[in-house]
Amino acid sequence: MIKREIIDFFTKSFQNKYDIYSDSFKEKKGQVFFIVKDNKKKYLVVAGLPAKVKESDFNSDQEKMINNGENLLFQICPLERHNLEKLQKILPYLKASTTGMKPSFGTGDRLGIATPAHIQAFEGKNIFPVLAQQSVREMERTESNWQKVLDNAIWGCFEVGYEGKFGADADHVKDLKNLQKAIDCGFTFYTIDPSDHINDNVLKLDKDELRKKYQQLPEKDDIENRYLNKDYQIGNHKLTFTQDSLAEIVLTYGEAIKHVEKCYQHLKQNHKEDFELEVSIDETPKPTSPLAHLWIALELHHKGVDFQNIAPHYIGDWEKGIDYIGDVDIFREEFKVHCQIAAEMGGYKLSLHSGSDKFSIYPIFAEESGGYFHVKTAGTSWLEAVKAIVVCDPVLYREIHEFALQCFEKDSFSYLLSTDLEKIPDITKLKDKELINLFSDNNARQLIHITYGSILREKDSLNRYRFKDRIYKVLFENEDIHYENVTKHIRHHLELLNL
Ligand SMILES: [Zn+2]
Repeated sequence: MIKREIIDFFTKSFQNKYDIYSDSFKEKKGQVFFIVKDNKKKYLVVAGLPAKVKESDFNSDQEKMINNGENLLFQICPLERHNLEKLQKILPYLKASTTGMKPSFGTGDRLGIATPAHIQAFEGKNIFPVLAQQSVREMERTESNWQKVLDNAIWGCFEVGYEGKFGADADHVKDLKNLQKAIDCGFTFYTIDPSDHINDNVLKLDKDELRKKYQQLPEKDDIENRYLNKDYQIGNHKLTFTQDSLAEIVLTYGEAIKHVEKCYQHLKQNHKEDFELEVSIDETPKPTSPLAHLWIALELHHKGVDFQNIAPHYIGDWEKGIDYIGDVDIFREEFKVHCQIAAEMGGYKLSLHSGSDKFSIYPIFAEESGGYFHVKTAGTSWLEAVKAIVVCDPVLYREIHEFALQCFEKDSFSYLLSTDLEKIPDITKLKDKELINLFSDNNARQLIHITYGSILREKDSLNRYRFKDRIYKVLFENEDIHYENVTKHIRHHLELLNL
């Protein structure tokens, strides 16, 4: 039976109760599958000959038999794990894969409903989409988990009929416990963040203290044999380690590299299929020098750690949700050296975290890296969702805004920010249609960007979510506006990165 007929049958027999996402329609092995929504939720519809549908064993909330010369069974199934597993068996492309050396871009989705919009943004672009991406910290703040993050992205792929490849990044994983959980859920890309093992206190030591500590390292001689009295030809210049520069780097990053090695060994032993590893050292107090980057790459190779990406802390300020702060030319010069190191060390991708809205940097990032890049964004899609709320439910937005002002100080502790709350206009003096202009103001953008966790978790005196359910409801009812905002904004990112 053809698609049109089935959709007509479905619509008639359920008396127009559901809207159909016709792009999701798939036919396989005598069954059809598609997504519908009523006024509250989305569902998977499974249809086919009764025996066949029963055999597939989906959990359904409701089913209906329709006679069209032969019996046709329709099941309305919740978008849950069991059903996704069954669907993945039938449509095996609904599964994350590795990115390879293609330029790639991560679209964190804090609300878990933006994947269809993200996929539209990638259309026609030669950039690999990493559609599931969340850090352990974000999961705590959104009360989510690895499985939900991944499943939401996969349901999003199915909704728009996407059969292409996509990645799944377990971001900023700091320990083996979280690493194992991500492995169990089917992630393909693991960002190991060894920052708990990076010794920032080294920066505070004077020369004598530094030398003394260094002399005590058991592996000192071994490390010196490997790194001293050698020239590393990087592009046009030579990099060399002095005993002092080596001491500072080894004391700062030595334990961190051992931690990455431990995580890598764990992945190798426990990950059944292909996986990729990113080493993120971006959350440090000071930028990663080219010499430190070189040492980290050499040391990882020495330990046999096969990594795909490194995320150094680049020079300049990389604040959330706004453009780069710093001298773009200085960034370019230093970034060039990082790219040359990556190329000389056998080739890996350089990764940019806090990549949301860094429009002045993208062309440089894409060009200098020769396309060997990965960019991560997350908060910017959340901001686009809030912009949809501003337009569709300004009353709700006003409440969120006032609440965010109260939380800002508490929530800003984990970020480097230059936000000046005094500069945000008093919203009681703004008309509804003027509220949207707040999102062109860096201070207001950061206010909403970093308070997402508090906004989503806040409960009232009856223990009900104060904003979360209303946010989801507004976005559900105004999905076209939400999707359009996200698609347009992410597409703008991708256009500047497309070589
Ligand atoms: Zn990061």
